[in-house]
Amino acid sequence: MSVYIQEECVSCALCVAPCPESCIVEEDEQFVIDRERCTDCGDCVEVCPLACIVKV
Ligand code: SF4
Ligand code: SF4
Repeated sequence: MSVYIQEECVSCALCVAPCPESCIVEEDEQFVIDRERCTDCGDCVEVCPLACIVKV
C-alpha cells in the first residue's frame, strides 16, 4: 500500500507539517509525496480538507 496525493489538491499545504518524514513537497506548483522518504504511515491522509490524499 502506498500513499498518494490526487490531482484535486489545491496546494493549501496543511499536510506538510504533520508529515513526520517531511516528505510532502511542492514541485512544479503541485504538492507531491517523495516516494523515497515516505513510510506510508498515513498521518497525512486525515489532515487533507479535500480528502485528496489516498492510500492505494
Ligand atoms: S504517509 Fe506518512 S510519511 Fe508518507 S507523506 Fe503521509 S505523513 Fe508523510
Ligand atoms: S492538505 Fe490536501 S489539498 Fe492541501 S496541499 Fe495537502 S494534499 Fe493538497
